[in-house]
Amino acid sequence: MDYLVRATAADLQIRAFAVTSKELVEQAGQAHQTSPVATAALGRTMSGALMMADSMLKNEEDVMTIQINGDGPLGGIVVTADHHGHVKGYVHQPEVYLPDKIKGHLDVGGAVGKGTLTVIRDMGMKDPYVGQIELASGEIGDDLTSYFAVSEQIPSSVGLGVLVAPDRHVLQAGGFIVQLMPFASEETISRLEENLKKIDPVTEMLQNGLSPEDMLEKILDGWNVERNGRTEVSFSCDCSRERVERALILLGKKEIGGLIREGKEIELGCSFCGKKYSFTPEDLLRLQAEAHE
Ligand code: ZN
Repeated sequence: MDYLVRATAADLQIRAFAVTSKELVEQAGQAHQTSPVATAALGRTMSGALMMADSMLKNEEDVMTIQINGDGPLGGIVVTADHHGHVKGYVHQPEVYLPDKIKGHLDVGGAVGKGTLTVIRDMGMKDPYVGQIELASGEIGDDLTSYFAVSEQIPSSVGLGVLVAPDRHVLQAGGFIVQLMPFASEETISRLEENLKKIDPVTEMLQNGLSPEDMLEKILDGWNVERNGRTEVSFSCDCSRERVERALILLGKKEIGGLIREGKEIELGCSFCGKKYSFTPEDLLRLQAEAHE
């Protein structure tokens, strides 16, 4: 089962999150038929988004979207997470294959390329809160670390990892975010830096059987870790036939007319979860009647 945990340490000078997300990354990979490097890029972004949504969203209806636009062959990544542990997302080009830069390490940075990372927080106000940075390396973890420093002014370390077998199965997925509060002492900062130097990469920790709780114990070694609960997380989409119908109606009478003249059933897929919705010419006639000129 996938879940995330949150904790604080050193009298609230540090707050931290960790997640295991193997099942949801596997599901997303199957939904979108992603290549191993595309699965890793999407999985890292989804893992990061889940922890960020948990830490930065406040209300029931709030949602957070991470958009990565790079000049690499992957084209881009879009991931949306809510306050309840639900995440959905896709990459623009799911069938990307690149040689490993380091043997056994998928070249996520090469697949993403150079570009921007945008975080959009929709908090139910008229305008969403938007922050954008230049990608640091395209490896996602570095990019989110940079986002927190530049856009939120919160010194953070973000570690993310997805291990994919050659047969495309996800062996491990997860990550952590650790953040220093503004009143953190020099001693706290330097000990945390030492701890972060000592830990293994995320996929290695997970392969060694560490749970999210164990990862936080390693990162926060030497402090009393105060755990603040856990939340189940899942790949989940809120699309519906009604929503797809509304999008079709917005095309207008003329466009729908064109589809009807083709005289056959059309199929529309949800870009976030891959679910297919089909419409017969009769369905389209009914929708056309509701559309504007
Ligand atoms: Zn969907």
